[in-house]
Amino acid sequence: MLSVEEHLATILAAVRPAGPVRLALSDSLGLVLCEDIRSLVDLPGFDNSAMDGYAVRSADVEGADPAVQGSAVTLPVVGEVAAGGVATIPVRPGEAVRIMTGAMLPRGADAIVKVEDTDGGTESVEIREGVVVGTSVRPAGEDVRAGTVVLQAGSVIDARRVALLAATGHGDVLVRPRPRVAVVSTGAELVAPGGRLEPGQIHDSNSHMLEAALSEFGAVTTHRLTIGDDGSEVVRVVEQLAEQVDAILTSGGVSMGAYDVVKEALRGRGTVDFVQVRMQPGKPQGFGTVGERDVPLFALPGNPVSAYVSFEVFVRPALRTMMGLLPAGRPALKTRLMHQLRSPAGRIQIARAVAAQDASGWHADPVWGQASHFIADLSRANALLVIPAEVTELAAGDEVEMWLLDGSGGRAPFWQNAVRPLNGGDPGAFAQDSADPDPVARDSGASDGPALTHVRADGSAHMVDISSKEVTAREASAAGRVLLSADAVAALRSGNVPKGDALAVARIAGIQAVKRTPELIPLAHPIAVHGVDVDVDVADDAVEIRATVRTADRTGIEMEALTAVTVAALTLIDMVKAVDKHARITDVRVIAKSGGRSGDWSES
Ligand code: AMP
Ligand code: MG
Repeated sequence: MLSVEEHLATILAAVRPAGPVRLALSDSLGLVLCEDIRSLVDLPGFDNSAMDGYAVRSADVEGADPAVQGSAVTLPVVGEVAAGGVATIPVRPGEAVRIMTGAMLPRGADAIVKVEDTDGGTESVEIREGVVVGTSVRPAGEDVRAGTVVLQAGSVIDARRVALLAATGHGDVLVRPRPRVAVVSTGAELVAPGGRLEPGQIHDSNSHMLEAALSEFGAVTTHRLTIGDDGSEVVRVVEQLAEQVDAILTSGGVSMGAYDVVKEALRGRGTVDFVQVRMQPGKPQGFGTVGERDVPLFALPGNPVSAYVSFEVFVRPALRTMMGLLPAGRPALKTRLMHQLRSPAGRIQIARAVAAQDASGWHADPVWGQASHFIADLSRANALLVIPAEVTELAAGDEVEMWLLDGSGGRAPFWQNAVRPLNGGDPGAFAQDSADPDPVARDSGASDGPALTHVRADGSAHMVDISSKEVTAREASAAGRVLLSADAVAALRSGNVPKGDALAVARIAGIQAVKRTPELIPLAHPIAVHGVDVDVDVADDAVEIRATVRTADRTGIEMEALTAVTVAALTLIDMVKAVDKHARITDVRVIAKSGGRSGDWSES
């Protein structure tokens, strides 16, 4: 008998990633990119408006303030530009152009007044609130510059990356192809689902299960057949398929019975061998390559649970390898058993279980029917438990390894706690994708969960799940200073820095940096930033920088405030380096925070 590792090693040694092909973007989901992707365009492609409103010169509307009576400014509307149109009419001093979201910014304009702050006029417009340079303008190239690498070879294409590929101008991509797989059920007793059963017959579930399991990670079933217990037919079908597909899966006919014809017929074809593996279920396994193209052939046992587990343990890793994906592709976690479990000596048991997570971690309830014909219990399970060969008995509370088979057991986003769609009284109206009878109800009572930490037991970093934390208004302030020479301070004070207005540029850089914080700090959550103030004051030997950032979210905003100060400081150094080569950043720190469970705090 072989161990699971030995049999898997034989299989993985016989398969390799397929060569790249160029596919339409719409067929690339789930595939591995084989080229670096450079953006073909700037994103945004041109300066454009973030709002419906009026393109203006900000200096013309400077004084408008809804709190000050008589401060509104009225400008003639000299043109109009919508998304997709070309801004041909410039905005000259004292003029406005009506503009829609996404439309090109007219020449001369430097800001947008949103329509809500105006009377909405078409001949002339009354502007009630002033804007500063850049308000509601989306500058060309702000997101991506043409020519920059936006995705690297080796990336797996998902919906978000499809959006990026499309936006950057790529209609097709070089990827590793989907393996084309043939699935063959064998057995004289098999009838297609929907067909009438005569005495002694059963519905063929394996070929449908395998087709579905293949498509879960992007492989495609090009042939699905059912054949009887006829050895010469098995050989004929396999020889034909070996010329047409990239992998062949058969089920049934591999154990010790009198009609286990697959084993008899295929043994010795190509490199096919039939072995016993120390696992339960799934002891009898056949594998080898057939045909001139060395097509991998997996002869899986017929019992549905054995076929499924064999697929998970051997076929999935092999086909994912052919796609250039990581072989496992299932999260392996530790779980506690909710009930005792027996396991055969000398064989790894792959038990089926219903797993769920609460504040103390994962818990797994092994399904009642652990025999390899219990399809209903298999379908109830959402996890496989891996019981080592030497373990024969486990008690409730013992820890075991688990592969999670679907995404269930996770927490719903916070808004789902409050909102449940109407189901018209039909309890079947919404699919239950987990074995958990009511994940929303369970999660709604959850607190912050276990002690928050960014490091798991095995030492790997992870981003803390904040979905159950409360949304509160939060503010954080940070400060820091850039130590400067007397010459540099004098240049800043007199506005004589050769590169220009260093303080203004540093302030803008600090604000921009806040929006990039989650990209820079690996475990920081992306949060909606509601406001940023960056102040820069020139002292005698330094520039003091101070940033205050506001949000209403589930996590604090200190990292954003620190990033603002640091980037403003770096920018200042860049601006003054011609005058001062020794500028130095010191004392970057959080000075105050408010909101959130840990309460308010300030340095003083
Ligand atoms: P075998 O390995 O062919 O002896 O099959 C073992 C058990 O699995 C028998 O009870 C078969 O009836 C059953 N079985 C085999 N193939 C399938 C299939 N495609 N769908 C459902 N059950 C199957
Ligand atoms: Mg059979």
